[in-house]
Amino acid sequence: MTASDERIGRTARLELSNQRLTEFEALVLEASPEGIVLDRSAFYPGGGGQPPDHGALVFDGVMCRIVGARKGDDLYLLPAEGDPIPGPGTRVRGVVDQGRRFELMRTHSALHVLSGVVFRDFGALVTGGNMDPLSARLDFNLETVPEGFRDDLERLCNQEVLADRAIEVFSLPRQEAMEIPDIIRTATNLLPPEIEVVRIVDIVGLDTQADGGTHVASTAQIGELTVTKVENKGKGFRRVRISLPRL
Ligand SMILES: [Zn+2]
Repeated sequence: MTASDERIGRTARLELSNQRLTEFEALVLEASPEGIVLDRSAFYPGGGGQPPDHGALVFDGVMCRIVGARKGDDLYLLPAEGDPIPGPGTRVRGVVDQGRRFELMRTHSALHVLSGVVFRDFGALVTGGNMDPLSARLDFNLETVPEGFRDDLERLCNQEVLADRAIEVFSLPRQEAMEIPDIIRTATNLLPPEIEVVRIVDIVGLDTQADGGTHVASTAQIGELTVTKVENKGKGFRRVRISLPRL
């Protein structure tokens, strides 16, 4: 859930300002079976708990499937074993697996609804989390679990889904961002000092966070979520698991 740059090494990131972009043209700068570097990419590279996108690079009538990403000095897209690799200088068409990406966007947005509701109604903060397409968990520093917590939480989250709140993404200078009370709550210790512009994901009226992930445009797109489990992992350490319907 941290904010991140619009560029990784030599690769311009297209997915942060256009979250629905799933096809793009790019030039291969470097390539080996260990990773392919493009001049621009709409593949979400992973981060903030959101896994990397999958998809393909299409060139010269063949296809190289992309099964992950690795971040170093550059952004390396990971090719499927045995697939043809486009050489440096090749123009490729990048195609992001839309189904997987949209499921991850819905899941990531659902986690923001969950953390917003738990903070607003139960006063607890997030201490960790993880997500896969359509299932995820968040950990909270919640001292005691009130009776009926699981059912109440599910109902309160789905009220926010039904309310169809807009989910807006924008950037602010660090100083300005840090004046938003919610940002101080979530990002004070997460934002590296060198980040000067902070990307904000705002579920209008519910939850505002510094965030580098991709999100759906409004909460109704998440779909009705299920709180599948509330686990007690020790003193003040609760793990909440959710799942989303396949649409
Ligand atoms: Zn997030």
